[in-house]
Formats: sequence, C-alpha cells, structure tokens
Amino acid sequence: MKLKIKMFISIVSLTLMFLSIFMLLQMYVTKDYTVSGQTAETEKTAALHTTKPLLEVEKYYPKTTSATLVGMGDILIHDTVYNAARVEHNLYDFKPMLTKVKPLIEGADIAFANQETMIGGTELGLSSYPRFNSPYEVGDALKDAGIDIVSMANNHTLDRGEIAIQNAINYWNKLGVAYVGSYKSEADKEEIRILDANDITFSFLAYTYGTNGIPIPTGKDYLVNLINLEAMKKEIERSKQLSDVTVVSIHFGNEYQRMPSDDQKNIVKQLVDAGADIILGHHPHVLQPVEWIEKENGGKAFVIYSLGNFISGQRHPYREIGGIVQLTVEKTGFADNYTIEIKNPTFLPTYVVNRKFTVIPLNEQYPLDSNIYKDIESHMKKWMPELAILQ
Ligand SMILES: [Zn+2]
Repeated sequence: MKLKIKMFISIVSLTLMFLSIFMLLQMYVTKDYTVSGQTAETEKTAALHTTKPLLEVEKYYPKTTSATLVGMGDILIHDTVYNAARVEHNLYDFKPMLTKVKPLIEGADIAFANQETMIGGTELGLSSYPRFNSPYEVGDALKDAGIDIVSMANNHTLDRGEIAIQNAINYWNKLGVAYVGSYKSEADKEEIRILDANDITFSFLAYTYGTNGIPIPTGKDYLVNLINLEAMKKEIERSKQLSDVTVVSIHFGNEYQRMPSDDQKNIVKQLVDAGADIILGHHPHVLQPVEWIEKENGGKAFVIYSLGNFISGQRHPYREIGGIVQLTVEKTGFADNYTIEIKNPTFLPTYVVNRKFTVIPLNEQYPLDSNIYKDIESHMKKWMPELAILQ
C-alpha cells in the first residue's frame, strides 16, 4: 500500500513538472506570435533581441502572416469624364467619383489599378480618344482612394509622346504612388517594383500588347513595356528572387470580347510556368472570368483575364461594368523556408454612373435579382464557383 502511494506521488509530481515546462514553453511561443503580427519595423527590432531558446522554439512553430491585394481595371479619362470633374478653369476633382468604393480599396494592404491614360497635366492640353491626356488630379484621387501602384503599360501610353509620360512619372513620384510598365530611363526600368505588407513582399511587372501603332522613340524602349515572353520570363525569374509574390499586370485580349482568346490563355499559361503568382488582365473594356492555373511544381496561380473598365466615358451595358478583385495572400513557414498561398478570391462588380461617372457597387444600379446582375455573377464565377461576390 505504502509503495502504491509513493508511486502515485511521484507520478503526480512528474506530471506537474512536465506541465510547468510545457507552459513555460508556451509562453515563449505566444510571445513570438504577438510580435509577428506587428509591423515589419517592430519585428526587425524583435529579431535583434531574439535569444537562442526562442530560435529553438521557432524551428518547430511556423509563422503565418497574410496580406490583402485589390486590383482594378481601365481608368480611361474621356473628355466627358474630365468635364464632369471640372471645378473651375483648369482645376479638377475626381475624388467624388471614388467615394463609394474607397473603403474597399483603402482597406486592402496593397491596391493596384491600370491608369490607362497618361496624366500629362493641363499644361500639355487635355485630350480624349483616340489620343488621351489627363489632368494630374486623377492621380490625386487615386492616391486619396488608397491606390499604391499603377500600371502605365497599355495601348495609350504613347498617345501624347514622351513628355506626357515624363510628366506623369514626375507626378506619381511626387504623390509617392508606385508606377510600373513605363519608365523614365533604362535604370528606372531595371528596378523591380516591390511593395510589402505584413512581412510579405510583392513584386509588380506590367506589359502591353502594343501602342496603337505609335512607334516607340528609338533607343527608348523603357518608355513602355511590350509583351515579349522571353524578356518577361527573365523579369519574373528576377522578381522571384527578390520577393515572395510576383504580380503581373497585362494589357491584352480583344476589345469587347467577354471571354479570353486563345492568345490570352497561352500567354497566361507561359507566365505561370515561369513563376507568376497573380495575373491581372485588362484592355477588353468588359469583364472576363477568373481562373486558377495549376503550377508545374504544385500550388496554383490566380488570373483575372479582364478587369473591365473601372472609370471611363464608354456607354454600353457591359462597358459600364467593371470591378475590384480582392485576394488574400498567406505566407506560412520559417525565415527562409515558407509557402505562399492565394486564398479567398473575392469580386465586387462595379458600375459607372452616367454623366457623373461615380463608381458604385453594381447592385446599386442593377438589383441582385436582375438579369444583368445575375449574368455578371455567373460569368465571373464560370471557372471558379467559390469566387465570393461582394455587394
Ligand atoms: Zn486598352
């Protein structure tokens, strides 16, 4: 009997001992997790003070962090649009056009848009289709709405020549908004755009199928990035070494076609094989569906073939409809060994209101049970039934 009590006591004390060791270990882990949720700055400081036992624990407890990305399509500032934004002679305000969608854009960690018309400023004289030049205030409104990076590679990049591009670049620099796909010099082009959020780095690349027949000035290929699969693959490879996620913006496809062409599909496949993670397509002026593309080495890339018109003066049911795509990028693993996963694909269909050119959620124009709304919803979900549709 005595022996049994002794055995019982030693089992209890052993259990208690293990329990307290376990709890102590847990405290370290919890502490580490709290730090990982903070800003990169804090994390850097924390890393400096990391002690050896913490690193030992870290080996066995991977970190998870995530960031959201939103993308919008063509911002085409026709004369009807800038006239609606004019507040007085040579002064414009485009901010009211974005009020309704600003919370979604601003709420994302990283926001991208295709700024199709160069913001060359009123000093060059504003112009509309077919050779656009837009006011600087377009940039102010995008910055105010929360846009972090714009693509400048599209068929209208060269509309008003190099001067409009250089003016636009100067203005984006002044605003602190990143630009991609059109550059001020060869050296500027060499520098891959990398944005980071919550310890995840995103590199951005941008290309266009052409420039409406306007020749690129000799020796100045950096003014606009054309689709060239070999060059693109090399840039994707470089991006992969520099960042966690590679986002490719691409201006391609046939205008007004609601489904991607074989050419679009082929380009996307090759970019994914080269390592692209997210592909944001635009140019057709109408929405084209989203799709997962299987990667050769496992995992999958996300593509939206066309984001449609985000703001434009084009009036035709499908050309007044665009949208905001939202993705969550999750990074799980250890310092130098992690996986990236694209999750929660979400889409807010939008509508451009006539004459005012305000961008509103589609259901405010066409009710959820209307044929147009249902058509857009099933069109976008065609190859990805799990795509969540926001209202
Ligand atoms: Zn275009």
